[in-house]
Amino acid sequence: QSQELSQARIDYHVALESLQQHGTQMVCTGKMHTDRICRFDYLCYCSDAEEFVFFHSNLSVMLPNLGSRRFQPALLDLSSVEDHNTQYFNFLELPVAALKFMPKPVFVPDVTLILNRFNPDNLMHVFHDDLLPAYYTMKQYTDLDDEARLVFMEGWSEGPHFDLYRLLSSKQPLLKEQLKNFGKLMCFTKSYVGLSKMTTWYQYGFVQPQGPKANILVSGNEIRQFAQALMDKMNISRPEEPDASAEDDKEKREEYIVVFSRSTTRLILNEAELIMALAQEFQMRVVTVSLEDQSFSSIVQVLCGAFMLVSMHGAQLISSLFLPRGSVVVELFPFAVNPEQYTPYKTLASLPGMDLHYIPWRNNIEENTVTHPDRPWEQGGISHLEKAEQERILTSKDVPRHLCCRNPEWLFRIYQDTLVDIPSFLDTLNEGMKAKPILKKSKTATLVHPGRVREPQCQTSVQTSNEAKLSVSWQIPWNLKFLKVREVKYEVWIQEQGENTYMPYILPQQNYTFSENIKPFTTYLVWVRCIFNKNLLGPFADVLMCRT
Ligand code: UDP
Repeated sequence: QSQELSQARIDYHVALESLQQHGTQMVCTGKMHTDRICRFDYLCYCSDAEEFVFFHSNLSVMLPNLGSRRFQPALLDLSSVEDHNTQYFNFLELPVAALKFMPKPVFVPDVTLILNRFNPDNLMHVFHDDLLPAYYTMKQYTDLDDEARLVFMEGWSEGPHFDLYRLLSSKQPLLKEQLKNFGKLMCFTKSYVGLSKMTTWYQYGFVQPQGPKANILVSGNEIRQFAQALMDKMNISRPEEPDASAEDDKEKREEYIVVFSRSTTRLILNEAELIMALAQEFQMRVVTVSLEDQSFSSIVQVLCGAFMLVSMHGAQLISSLFLPRGSVVVELFPFAVNPEQYTPYKTLASLPGMDLHYIPWRNNIEENTVTHPDRPWEQGGISHLEKAEQERILTSKDVPRHLCCRNPEWLFRIYQDTLVDIPSFLDTLNEGMKAKPILKKSKTATLVHPGRVREPQCQTSVQTSNEAKLSVSWQIPWNLKFLKVREVKYEVWIQEQGENTYMPYILPQQNYTFSENIKPFTTYLVWVRCIFNKNLLGPFADVLMCRT
């Protein structure tokens, strides 16, 4: 393997000389360790010490140069999970002169992305924490192309989903453990360290109970482009959309429902009955898929044409990112688990432009749950707890809010098996389907925001000693003439100078004369902006100063 890396494409002596002369070069983006990604020339890794090494020379560059703050707490997060203290990255420093006393370095010619996978055993974590962030980190830096090398430093073995990681580039990803095969000292000619967190939408509850991230920066559009890229790599093409206008029944693509089944834990105990009920209710074929029985790509092939996906809460539901627009995600929750508090898949389905309709169902009938108190704690067993605590958990009907990851009551409840009560399930489903929006074909109209209104102006007049008028007018935003917008409105804010509050108005036209609450000999600050279709807000134009 070391052959593969070290030969041909780089001249060894040129590389070594360059390292000796220039040392390591580092330039990073980001103000904080939590939003930092660093690019290096000649970052090295010493496999004996299991440390990255920065070689100082007169010509080396280290930006930011944080001094000791580099350890408070770290230079950057190596995984996409924010500020997790097991996922920090740092390097050791050495003078280039030390190279004389060290093993000969092996140079890695590929442009390399160095990162930690967060939990490669769990499909949700694989997609949310690793694949999406790595895919978009690679989009951010154009030299991280299809030829890029990925290096996973978390120290785990390949794990069950390694084939998915292989889709990110044409080169085999390297694991930490494999680095030592290349020699005691490896130097990455060009590398990037860290992952973009821009695409993540969920926090797992390390510092506050789990939930959607406070400031989500990704839309369904990016998720779907990522999904499409993976499908292309897997050689999967989406079936044609069902064509309602097709006259011949054969021309219509048959619609079907997918039940994603788990076969070891958190079972649906009456899956056959559930499938029958779905088939009857929707007059559709129902197919089951499971990670235990088939390849992930064959599951994606089925999902990408589905009308509806039904599954127990669990990591397999991340696969809903492959569902077609307009389809339905039905998530089942065991007894005493509140769907509102565990929303990674709801949040995904609800991202703007994801166009999935999400329906949660919860088992409210205690007799229909099967608990496993005697299993090991990580599968929800509670027999290791004190009797009183076991008793409290057994009588509780709702898991209280909690932090990740070892709360025994949460694990006990989430690993229950469930007999799905069919009438309640169908009720919830039919109620939920009533709220399903009709998918619009022309999408762009709902994505484009208004520009600023142009040429805002005000005119004032004083009527009497306590009456005045304020007329405001403006021109349409420049981009409006290129768009078909269902509804165009304008919002005007009027604030008396020096006051904290303002009066907001929504107007359909491009001018208006205000007389209520307008006082003579007073200065008003006036802001105007355009709104498309009720919720697409444009920027405010420069504030107007209007003196009556
Ligand atoms: N898993 C599965 N079938 C099962 C149980 C688990 O395919 O019966 C998968 C699951 O989708 C996830 C991984 O195994 O990718 C770990 O499951 P776990 O229950 O630990 O996590 P969760 O699904 O609650 O996130």
